[in-house]
Amino acid sequence: MAQGKIQGINGNMVSVAFEGRVSLNEVGYISVGEKDSARRLKAEVIRIRGELAQLQVFEPTKGLKIGGNVEFTDELLAVELGPGLLTQIYDGLQNPLPELAEAAGQFLERGVYLDPLPRDRQWDFMPQAVEGDRVSGGDTIGTVPEGAFQHRIMVPFGIDAECEVISVAKAGRYTVTEEIAEIREAKSGKVHKLSMMFTWPVKRPITKYAERLRPTKPMVTKVRLVDTFFPVALGGTYCIPGPFGAGKTVLQQITSRHAEVDVVIIAACGERAGEVVETLVEFPELTDPRTGRSLMERTIIICNTSSMPVAAREASVYTGVTLAEYFRQMGLNVLLLADSTSRWAQAMREMSGRLEEIPGEEAFPAYLESNIAAFYERAGVVRLKTGEIGSVTIGGSVSPAGGNFEEPVTQATLKVVGAFHGLSRERSDARKFPAIHPIESWSKYEGIVPATKRDYANRILHRGFEVDAMMKVVGEEGTSMPDYIIYEKGELIDTAYIQQNSFHPVDASVSPKRQNYVFDLLLHCLLTKFDFSDKDEARQYFNKLRMLLLDMNAAPWEDDSPGAEFTKLESEVRELVGAKGQGYQADAEEILEARA
Ligand code: ADP
Ligand code: MG
Repeated sequence: MAQGKIQGINGNMVSVAFEGRVSLNEVGYISVGEKDSARRLKAEVIRIRGELAQLQVFEPTKGLKIGGNVEFTDELLAVELGPGLLTQIYDGLQNPLPELAEAAGQFLERGVYLDPLPRDRQWDFMPQAVEGDRVSGGDTIGTVPEGAFQHRIMVPFGIDAECEVISVAKAGRYTVTEEIAEIREAKSGKVHKLSMMFTWPVKRPITKYAERLRPTKPMVTKVRLVDTFFPVALGGTYCIPGPFGAGKTVLQQITSRHAEVDVVIIAACGERAGEVVETLVEFPELTDPRTGRSLMERTIIICNTSSMPVAAREASVYTGVTLAEYFRQMGLNVLLLADSTSRWAQAMREMSGRLEEIPGEEAFPAYLESNIAAFYERAGVVRLKTGEIGSVTIGGSVSPAGGNFEEPVTQATLKVVGAFHGLSRERSDARKFPAIHPIESWSKYEGIVPATKRDYANRILHRGFEVDAMMKVVGEEGTSMPDYIIYEKGELIDTAYIQQNSFHPVDASVSPKRQNYVFDLLLHCLLTKFDFSDKDEARQYFNKLRMLLLDMNAAPWEDDSPGAEFTKLESEVRELVGAKGQGYQADAEEILEARA
């Protein structure tokens, strides 16, 4: 292992003169002071120039001295994989935060690194492979129950050679460090002793699958505006840019609770400490509406507040996506939510400045785009060698200064994602939640509602916005009745369908079946022709309709069928439309009968 001496310290970037072999992304430990040589700070090599390595340090560098010792490890920055990941709250270096806080008292001390996976806990191992089986990295040796599913104990992904299983442990209780199998490489005869855990470098995608597939199935979020208008696909990518306070974090929290996926990984990166604490306090209390079990059982939280050094932000983003890929290897659907990727980009900018690289736009490094693209490319649907399907979906929030989407991070993200949920200050100020702007946002994915229907509602919505803008100039009197009706219909879509109360027990999460049902009723209103004697009459009429639809949003569905209250309100809507409507417009039947 190479050794080195500190030659320069620039904030979190330390230059080290070394002897021996050092590689990019290798981990080095930097000693603090001379007396306290036992305390060492974790760092990662980010640039090598001849005999000089530059390392980003994941902790405050106070007390480091020129000439101080550095020990390289010959290992890349990596995460531990195995049973015990779920329910954990980690920092960016995969330290379990509650234990870290306990170990260090009230203040998190530097240089304390704890085992990510509990070493003392025993797991019920059930062997699956048998003696003589041929296996290689990613193949299953056995399983242990964890939370709601079977955690697969796999051959470490780093073993590419074909191996023969020599022995497998009997069913029983084992810790993650006990040996559970021995395998031997067919060609070289090299023997590997396996336990239930292994490590994997965070910056290297896990690719132990047969093929990548196109993301086609929707990832149901239960948020109407997302599922119906701007859907996300399982294995797809999306971004949520928005100014400070527009609702990025709340939207991600709602999604983490209600999304129809197996595992959720939240990478809270550089946001205010208060928000993170809120998540940490609330989350364990929540139950999964689908299974009735604690939501935490399917969740991992990786948390870096804005007070932690910037290098740890980058680590948390990569740690998050690596954990997501690990669970995908088990045939599961995993959702990774990163909040906010702008903080990660700021860390890149800061480090790039310290390295004195040639800056690109707004002083971000030239590789900003390719790093962002490489991160989102780790999402995807894959067919495993067993034939099973697994997916990683990535949703990242972006917090551009002043909410200006023309800046480099938003633009780089826009180029690579499949859906764009742009939050609007105007809408959040008007408390129109979720504040995703229905005109500016888009998605390339198929949703839960037939495209013909969705596109029709979208056209009305767009025209409604146009009429609204025009009315602001010419006034209501200068607007024709047909235009005014379009405006009211657009408002109906906006207030009664798009806006959703995420704190209401019924309205917070809406099943795809219910969304389709309500959307059809909405279309029934939109496709009906109306005439009114004046705009007051029209306004009052649509107000009544809106109130009924809003009441419906709060009315329960039992076992995914309309409840009594809902049915009563639905007949009132149909009566009201029947009383004033003048039949359907020409293309109505065609739209209503459209299938996915
Ligand atoms: P951001 O992460 O974009 O800075 P937050 O997600 O923290 O913003 O939201 C700021 C505030 O806006 C929240 O504390 C809440 O009061 C309000 N808010 C955001 N989203 C919603 C929502 N869906 N429903 C109701 N209130 C919301
Ligand atoms: Mg936030």
